[in-house]
Amino acid sequence: MIIIRSVKEMQIKIKNLRKQNKIGFVPTMGYFHQGHLSLMKAAKEENDIVVTSIFVNPLQFGPNEDYERYPRNEERDMQLAKNTGVDILFIPEAKDMYPSELAISMKVNKRANVLCGKSRPNHFDGVVTVVAKLFNIVLPDKVYFGMKDAQQLAIIEALISDFNFPIELVGLPTVRETDGLAKSSRNVYLNEEEKNEAVWLQKALLVGQQLITRGERSPNIVSTKIKEIINKETTGIIDYVEVLSYPGLEPITTINEQIIIATAVTFNKTRLIDNLLLDEDGKILTKIGKL
Ligand code: AMP
Repeated sequence: MIIIRSVKEMQIKIKNLRKQNKIGFVPTMGYFHQGHLSLMKAAKEENDIVVTSIFVNPLQFGPNEDYERYPRNEERDMQLAKNTGVDILFIPEAKDMYPSELAISMKVNKRANVLCGKSRPNHFDGVVTVVAKLFNIVLPDKVYFGMKDAQQLAIIEALISDFNFPIELVGLPTVRETDGLAKSSRNVYLNEEEKNEAVWLQKALLVGQQLITRGERSPNIVSTKIKEIINKETTGIIDYVEVLSYPGLEPITTINEQIIIATAVTFNKTRLIDNLLLDEDGKILTKIGKL
């Protein structure tokens, strides 16, 4: 595995490699767990060269969010990426990615004013900006994103299609702890008690899913039930529980299409998200190819 820290160097390297090789790309913010590694493994199976990037993107963090304290461990990440078969680990510096204030900004108009976008204004503008830059630097054939960040996945799909990036998008399922807690770099912020409580995010979503498979068609009844459970079983503060169409992320009055049921809950200062993507019968989707 080679490590590249300069944007220019990455561009020179990929220009040569892509003539003969299919390039798979996994963008991340580092502090790897099995969720990240599952994306790298899939990329390894489906491409000749796997590029992974680590970049904690200042543009997508709000003023009171955890940019400064976002967990970082480069040495450990390098070892894990190498063991997973990554060929190039791209770790650019913020001043190389953003040498001066951008003259042109990107604005997400759809799919962004719900779920996390509501309480994180401009977050997805920052995400699409960095992802578009990374796509242009790495020039991948296929990119891999997690369904854990389902809103991000839906917005990346729109980015690729709106701006005609010649890239195939693959969305892969959320990797969880054995107790069901979705793996997240931010889980390190949780104490034992909060970790035990956080398991209820998925449990509550699964109760919502069961209601749907048993015939419930009202998004309100489903989200109310999920809220009740999270409030009863945890000390977390609910940011949202929403049932929306997917990937359009539009409000629905009846459940009769592919949907997302999603929640965000804050434990102390740690905001956790989880979701289930369901087909029209309420069955859990495990892979997203074409959204
Ligand atoms: P992050 O480093 O948090 O920006 O995540 C990088 C990529 O890993 C994103 O595409 C995430 O959706 C994905 N990811 C994060 N957590 C998980 C997980 N538990 N399972 C699968 N993918 C994940």
